[in-house]
Amino acid sequence: MSKKLVVLGAGESGVGAALLAMQQGWDVFVSDSGVIADRFQNELNGAGIKWEQGMHTLEEVFSASEVVKSPGIPDSIPMIQQLHGRNIPVISEIEFAGRYTQAKTVCITGSNGKTTSTMLIYHLLKHSGVDVEMAGNIGTSLARQIAEGRNPEWFVIELSSFQLDGMYQFKADVAVLLNITPDHLDRYDYKMENYIDSKFRIAQNQTENDVFVYCQDDEVIANELQKRIFYSRLLPFTQNDILKQGAYSTSDELIINYNDESMSLFLQELSLQGRHNLYNSMAAGIVAKVLNIRKKFIRESLSSFKGVAHRLERVVSVRGIEFINDSKATNVNSTWYALECMSKPVVWIVGGVDKGNDYSELMPLVEEKVKAIICLGTDNEKLVRAFQGKVATLEETQSMDEAVEMAYRLGKKNEVVLLSPACASFDLFDNYIQRGDLFKESVRNL
Ligand code: ADP
Repeated sequence: MSKKLVVLGAGESGVGAALLAMQQGWDVFVSDSGVIADRFQNELNGAGIKWEQGMHTLEEVFSASEVVKSPGIPDSIPMIQQLHGRNIPVISEIEFAGRYTQAKTVCITGSNGKTTSTMLIYHLLKHSGVDVEMAGNIGTSLARQIAEGRNPEWFVIELSSFQLDGMYQFKADVAVLLNITPDHLDRYDYKMENYIDSKFRIAQNQTENDVFVYCQDDEVIANELQKRIFYSRLLPFTQNDILKQGAYSTSDELIINYNDESMSLFLQELSLQGRHNLYNSMAAGIVAKVLNIRKKFIRESLSSFKGVAHRLERVVSVRGIEFINDSKATNVNSTWYALECMSKPVVWIVGGVDKGNDYSELMPLVEEKVKAIICLGTDNEKLVRAFQGKVATLEETQSMDEAVEMAYRLGKKNEVVLLSPACASFDLFDNYIQRGDLFKESVRNL
C-alpha cells in the first residue's frame, strides 16, 4: 500500500504539497476546517486529490503516515497533539518539498525584514544571472514549483517561525537570521525561549560547508550564539563594529569582507533607506559574496531594488506632505525602525489589533519626531493611555478615509504622514495588504 499524506490546511502551501505528493505517488488527503478557495478546489479536483472542508475527519487524519500542516494551524489544538501522541510526523510544506529537489537553498528568517530581504536577495541573484527561484512565505509555494518541474540551481526561501517549527531534516546551505524580537508569543506558550528556539532551527543540520549569516547587533542572537554549537561558517553583519569577515557600516559606507576580498558601497547608493534596511542590504551583500557574485552586480542590484509594497512605501506628496505606507509594520519593532528613519515631523497613524504591545520603547522617538497621533482601530484605549499628553494632538477614528483626512488636515508642508500601525489589521481590515491599499486609495483621493 502506498504511503498516505494528509495535508491540513488548503492554502497555497498545502495545495502545493498535495500536488507534489500526488505526483510522487503518495495517497493524498486534504482537510481544511474552513472554506477552501474555489481555485484550489478546482486544482485538487483536477489532480484527482480527495479533500474535505469545514471539518477534519479524524479517522482520515489519523490514518496518515505523515501530515503536512499549514503554518496557520497551532500545535496546541487537540488533533495535532493526538497526532504527536500517535507518533505520526507532522511537518511543514518546506520540509516535505525539500525532499524532492536537489537545488541549493538560501533561507531567510527573522521577526522583521524577511520578505524585504528575501526579495532583495532574489533580485540580486536574478540580476546577476544566477539560475534562481523564490519560495516560502512569498508567492508560489516551494512544493508547487517543484511539482511544476522547476529545478533551479538555487531557491531563495522566506521562512516564518511556524514553518521552521515543522522542519527536521531540511538544511539551508545559506541561512540568514535577521533579528529576533518578541512576536507571535501566543503560539509559543508565551515563552520567548520557545520562539528563539524556533528561529534557530534555520541553522539546524548545517555542516562546515554551509554558511550562517546573522545580525551581530541583535542582543538575543548574540546571546544565543554563546550557548549554541554551530558547524557552519558564521558570517555576521553589524552597524556597531568593524569585521574582518562579514559586513559592517561606517557613517557613509557599507563594507563587505569575505575571504580575502573586500568591497564597499556608499550608503546613498543603496535603494533601501533606513537603518533596518541597511541590515537587509548587508545580509544580501554577504549572501551574494558567498555565492561568488561579481561586485558590479552587487552594487547594481543593491541600488536598483524597488522595495516592497506596504513596507515604508512612499505613496505621493500632496501639498508638500509626504504620505508613507508601512502597513506591514504589525509589531512595535518594525514601527520603531519606521519612526527612527523619519527626518521630518510625523503625523502617525497607528493601531489595530494589539498583540500584547509594549509601547514604552517607542516613547523617545515619538517625543522627538511625532507631532500628532491618529489611532485607527476598534479599541484604541491602550494607545490613548500610552500616548496621551506625549504629543500635541491625539485623535481617534475607525475609518481609513477619516484617518487620512485628519492626517491631511493636521499635516503641514515638509511633514510626513506615516501609516505604521504596530498592530495587526484584523479589527477593521482583511489583512495588512487591504489596510495599505485603502490607505493609498484614500491618499490618492485627497
Ligand atoms: P516580514 O516578512 O519579516 O514581516 P517585511 O520585510 O515584510 O518583514 O517587513 C515588515 C516590517 O518590518 C516593515 O514595516 C518593514 O519596514 C520593517 N522591516 C524591514 N526590515 C527590517 C529589519 N531588518 N528590522 C526591523 N524591521 C524591519
